[in-house]
Amino acid sequence: MDLKSKIREIDNFPKEGISFKDITTLLKDGEAFKYAIDKIVDDLKDKNVDIIVGPEARGFLMGTPVAYALKAGFVPVRKPGKLPGETSKYEYDLEYGTDCLEIHKDAILKGQRVAIVDDLLATGGTIEATAKLIESLGGEVVAIEFLIELEFLNGKERLRDYHVNSLIKY
Ligand code: IMP
Repeated sequence: MDLKSKIREIDNFPKEGISFKDITTLLKDGEAFKYAIDKIVDDLKDKNVDIIVGPEARGFLMGTPVAYALKAGFVPVRKPGKLPGETSKYEYDLEYGTDCLEIHKDAILKGQRVAIVDDLLATGGTIEATAKLIESLGGEVVAIEFLIELEFLNGKERLRDYHVNSLIKY
């Protein structure tokens, strides 16, 4: 299936000069959504994954069906102040300023095998922070899966220590 044809590109969103990759047009197409999830599941099925981690918010959409299919658990990574229990935090640099992500401290046990699933790899900052959070709890990041990779931003270089798979490339 041509998954790229299911992605809508919206120019100048959220800022002038950005061509935003809108995945909602893929998600509402039942066949395309199932095909994409099945592809990710296929790449993970021999990796003995215990936990899928998805970053807020589109990582929830892509990650939970993958977790269900693999009979793995799902753990959310969220923006500060959203998770109710005790959290670990990781602060990382953006082009202007910093951002922060949180995970529940008891969400991952030492030695658990974890795969990260998200909608899109841009600079890799979000997923590098997510991997650091998982590792700080003793989890092992065995794979990172994206629906879309913006190859021209070279995020894969930042994630070079990991197995990275993406279904659609720009
Ligand atoms: P990174 O941390 O620079 O890799 O940015 C990745 C995050 O930005 C992902 O979690 C995406 O949800 C979001 N993002 C960046 N560009 C786009 C886009 O064109 N479409 C959808 N999400 C985007």
